[in-house]
Amino acid sequence: MITIQNFIKGKFENPISNEWLDNYCPENGDVYGQIPSSSKDDIEKAFKAAKTAFKSWSLTTLEERSRILIKISELLEDNIQRFAEAESKDNGKPISLAKAIDIPRAASNFRFFGHAITQFASESHESVGHDAINYTLRQPIGVVGCISPWNLPLYLFTWKIAPAIAAGNCVVAKPSEVTPMTAYLLGEICNEAGLPKGVLNIVHGLGTTTGQAIVEHPEIKAISFTGGTQTGAHIAKVAAPMFKKLSLELGGKNPNIIFADCDYDDMLATTVRSSFANQGQICLCGSRIFVETSIYDKFKVDFVKKVKQLKVGHPSRVTTDIGAIVSKQHLEKVLGYIDIAKKEGGNILCGGRQILVDNYENGYYLEPTVIEISNNECRVNQEEIFGPVVTIMPFNNEDDVLEMANKVKYGLSATLWTNNLKRTMRLSNQLQAGIIWVNTWMLRDLRTPFGGIKTSGVGREGGFEALRFFTEPKNVCIKY
Ligand code: NAD
Repeated sequence: MITIQNFIKGKFENPISNEWLDNYCPENGDVYGQIPSSSKDDIEKAFKAAKTAFKSWSLTTLEERSRILIKISELLEDNIQRFAEAESKDNGKPISLAKAIDIPRAASNFRFFGHAITQFASESHESVGHDAINYTLRQPIGVVGCISPWNLPLYLFTWKIAPAIAAGNCVVAKPSEVTPMTAYLLGEICNEAGLPKGVLNIVHGLGTTTGQAIVEHPEIKAISFTGGTQTGAHIAKVAAPMFKKLSLELGGKNPNIIFADCDYDDMLATTVRSSFANQGQICLCGSRIFVETSIYDKFKVDFVKKVKQLKVGHPSRVTTDIGAIVSKQHLEKVLGYIDIAKKEGGNILCGGRQILVDNYENGYYLEPTVIEISNNECRVNQEEIFGPVVTIMPFNNEDDVLEMANKVKYGLSATLWTNNLKRTMRLSNQLQAGIIWVNTWMLRDLRTPFGGIKTSGVGREGGFEALRFFTEPKNVCIKY
């Protein structure tokens, strides 16, 4: 049994109430540890630690902040195996994936913002004819809250923390209660890297209590949140009357649009990945696949054949492509959508069932599932499933597919497969999404703005956008 503790002022501590939650292991359904069920009091303690640390951290030179962030990045790389194993055990994802994507990206987040802060600049405006100059300060906000989900636990947790502390803020952070393990381990690394005590405080617990206490805290002035759209709406409601700065990265239902003139083999291999990577639990997965009629039948045969070859297996095995779903509750939600699809007349082309791996009767394993549909309005094409389930349907022309792609409440990302330049330009302009990929998927350049429109969120993360979010601009006008 592993007991996770809060990390406050550089120390690991039990929750004040001494209340705990069970931590489940998706690969076998066992409880393998406990995590604090933190209360308002723990958040207050973390806030005070952060507030005290802010005085000197906000005045720490950029070179020194940069040095510490890069050191954290190096230590994560040195500990990649340990972190990848912990992430996999907590989340159910293959260790190979955690080792190739999650942990390296968490390290990159610290390295990237360690460098970015040394390049971040503000503007000045000369007011010609008025004998005045304006310059804009970019000051850290103070204590900020960072709340993250379970699908890419350390990757998304650090995507918020790194720019927040690089910009000179101090942080009260809460990882998902479903996947708290690597956030817990991060505390050790921060101490080893010499991050001053109190700059980062990590508090564990449920969203409705611990998370809510962060959002409600009157002196936590900004909230960076990634998670579900419904939770985002609730957070906005709580935070808005306090005029907090808010960054909300929410759900998606992303179209993957395939034209006959694409590079077929590349498209096919990438579409398998964009459908099922991380058990389909990436907000950017292309869960609605639209295929031009002339290649639809061929695509259907080839795609289903490749999906059937994916190996669902124990997360620790190198041959495993698809590990376990993150939790029993989520598995049931995804299975529920497969039932809905059947009732709506969807044709299950492959998958659709929970399966047994290594005789773990309580493991959360699900076959990758492809559902053929004939109507974009059905629930499985309108609601976020967030699991190894995609739909496919044919389209006749550009106008039709554009309308279907946009006819959804979400607007996070869209993928386009075509070699027609004019069509690429037209559709990239008209698709309603914050991120468009053409002939690729998940190619991430950390300098680019990241985020969604419509109910997929408000604000942008990434590069200088994140550093702007975590600072307040203050204009100074001097007459000479
Ligand atoms: P969730 O909204 O249930 O939880 C996310 C986090 O918010 C958790 O830490 C949770 O404890 C906390 N939380 C819950 N209620 C809260 C409250 N009232 N106040 C404060 N915090 C609260 O989401 P999830 O199930 O963990 O994650 C899956 C969702 O995240 C999906 O919808 C997915 O699309 C989305 N997501 C979006 C992005 C993106 O960048 N847009 C990235 C990854 C995941």
